[in-house]
Amino acid sequence: MKNISIGLLLLCGLLTTACATTPQNTVTNTQSSHVPKNIIFLIGDGMGVEHTTAYRYYTDDLTTEAVETTIFDQLLVGMASTYPDDDTVVTDSAASATALSSGVKSYNGAIGVDAHKEPLATVLEKAKQLGKQTAIVVTSQINHATPAAFIAHNESRQNYDQIADNYLSNLINDKPIVDLMFGGGTKYFIRDDRNLVKEFEDYGYQYTDDLQQLDNITALPALGLFAPVGLPFAIDSAQPHRLEPMAQKALSLLSQHNDNGFFMMIEGSQIDWCSHANDVACAMGELDDFAATIKAARDFAQQQGDTLVVVTADHSTGGLSIGGYGQYLWKRDLVHQIHASIETLSKEMIKTNDVVATWNKYIDFALTTEEKQKLLNASKQKDKMLRDALVEVISHRTITGWTSRGHTAGDVQIFAYGVGAEKFAGHLDNTDIAKAIFSFLK
Ligand code: MG
Ligand code: ZN
Repeated sequence: MKNISIGLLLLCGLLTTACATTPQNTVTNTQSSHVPKNIIFLIGDGMGVEHTTAYRYYTDDLTTEAVETTIFDQLLVGMASTYPDDDTVVTDSAASATALSSGVKSYNGAIGVDAHKEPLATVLEKAKQLGKQTAIVVTSQINHATPAAFIAHNESRQNYDQIADNYLSNLINDKPIVDLMFGGGTKYFIRDDRNLVKEFEDYGYQYTDDLQQLDNITALPALGLFAPVGLPFAIDSAQPHRLEPMAQKALSLLSQHNDNGFFMMIEGSQIDWCSHANDVACAMGELDDFAATIKAARDFAQQQGDTLVVVTADHSTGGLSIGGYGQYLWKRDLVHQIHASIETLSKEMIKTNDVVATWNKYIDFALTTEEKQKLLNASKQKDKMLRDALVEVISHRTITGWTSRGHTAGDVQIFAYGVGAEKFAGHLDNTDIAKAIFSFLK
């Protein structure tokens, strides 16, 4: 008893937010009170330490002396290594999602299978077997690597149609294993050879393809596909938060009949995509939506009291650095003045054949003569050249560094709140996160 009390005291020092919601009788009732009924697992794809740090400075209220903390700072509990099952060190989203869903390391490209391409049991499947409701909410297509590794088993992330098919063939008690799926992907679910949406409707799923009409979904099971592939970037959307309302709607649907609890995986999918594009304003837009979604999950857990929220990333992307080029400065004010993704800027510059007008339409600071010339020259060549030139101009202006168009292997952060949050403290491997979640599914 004494050891448990001391342990709890230490943990409470470390995890004040988690302990604030832990019932008072935990010491005498350790077993059941440390098993959350509901588990909300959030993954920021490509979200390294530099991303959440940049987000803190980006959201800082410049009228106060303090640098205000973010939801990330408030829930931080640990770090995780992300390497795949070989000696390459740098993971992709598929191997990392497989580690996070199954607790087993695999090769880059693996979707819910081990190094021998054999299917692995996932936490989502386990939750379903226990009679819990299950959900995934993402901004990529719902059959993209991260969600796929929780639901499907395939030797390659590239087999998008097969993975989508597997969402209907991987059954528990003769039913698809996910009760709620929100994201993009009509291209893969409504095809010439097969209409999977219709097949889900035959299983009783309510369906919508309109994000503005989420309220048309009144009960589970439910499927919402809001784009052919991924949803538009937050920075390009009229409604810059789209993950958050999808997650809120999911929480309200899951709460309707929740006798056995639920497991939900929510992914901020496009932090990664913006970072592959070396687009800092785009990345900040995605982080803002993801942070709001974490807050919504935290608020839900605060109200329910029997819920775990655990947040991590699968890897970092882009080799982002806050400052660069030998300068001791990061111009977050200029990042705020960019109102479109580099992808949108580039497409529109080529379509209108007017680099300057397009720049001025979306960006509140003017091009220098030299920058203007650089973009004009690039626009006469390929789209890719123009995008590269835009990255160069925006990165130098905002003093943002990028070392890669791909992933990097720095450890990622773990954030946790609520019942069982203490299991994620300290330095873990990404497989340990899945193992801790499995320990709650017994
Ligand atoms: Mg992903
Ligand atoms: Zn990536």
